[in-house]
Amino acid sequence: MKTIGLLGGMSWESTALYYRLINEETRRRLGGLHSARIVLVSLDFQEVEVLQDQGDWAAAGELLAGAAQRAELAGADLLLICTNTMHKVADEVAASIGIPLLHIAEATAARIIDAGISTIGLLGTRFTMEHEFYKGRLEKHGIEALTPPAADRELVHGVIYEELCVGVVKTESRQQFLRIMDDLVQRGGQAIVAGCTEIGMLVDEANTGVRLFDTTRIHAAQAVALALE
Ligand code: GLU
Repeated sequence: MKTIGLLGGMSWESTALYYRLINEETRRRLGGLHSARIVLVSLDFQEVEVLQDQGDWAAAGELLAGAAQRAELAGADLLLICTNTMHKVADEVAASIGIPLLHIAEATAARIIDAGISTIGLLGTRFTMEHEFYKGRLEKHGIEALTPPAADRELVHGVIYEELCVGVVKTESRQQFLRIMDDLVQRGGQAIVAGCTEIGMLVDEANTGVRLFDTTRIHAAQAVALALE
């Protein structure tokens, strides 16, 4: 079993999900008392958020690259950045380490293609929905990503940072997310990508009625598959 490196804390609410999902999947595959070998380097999200807000992606890249190197030194054989947004600096992180980085959008794209889907609705932070680094990755695989109109993008972004990242789950926000997802389906989305690692705290396939690609679950499952290869 390889050791899975997690770059977490962005936010820790979703890192806790990764920890649980990876261990559950390991137990499902191996049985008994098996659990995953994990190295976790967890950042202070406040520091990361300030850099995001300032648009200082170079400093954010250095911060994450340093953390990734510590995970490698601590014995990680492969690395996951446990947030979609911070894949904005995935190339810098990958270049700073000697172990493979499992890109969350690549893992998700593979699942979407397997499902025979070509148009998805994308929900995530403003950065993920509006910057090229994420949609561009999906487009490279022939997947078109629809995003909500500006006012709804603001709403989704606000719920992520002001509620989910601080552990707050509100019924009103769930209703809003379901409405926004419905609108994306009306516009031609064949499925929804929960392109933020905390969205699974708010909605899952049981309450959506539409195929949902939860990036946290996909990323965690892929990590276990590779660790046990
Ligand atoms: N975890 C979130 C994501 O998947 C948002 C927090 C962040 O900005 O990293 O994008």
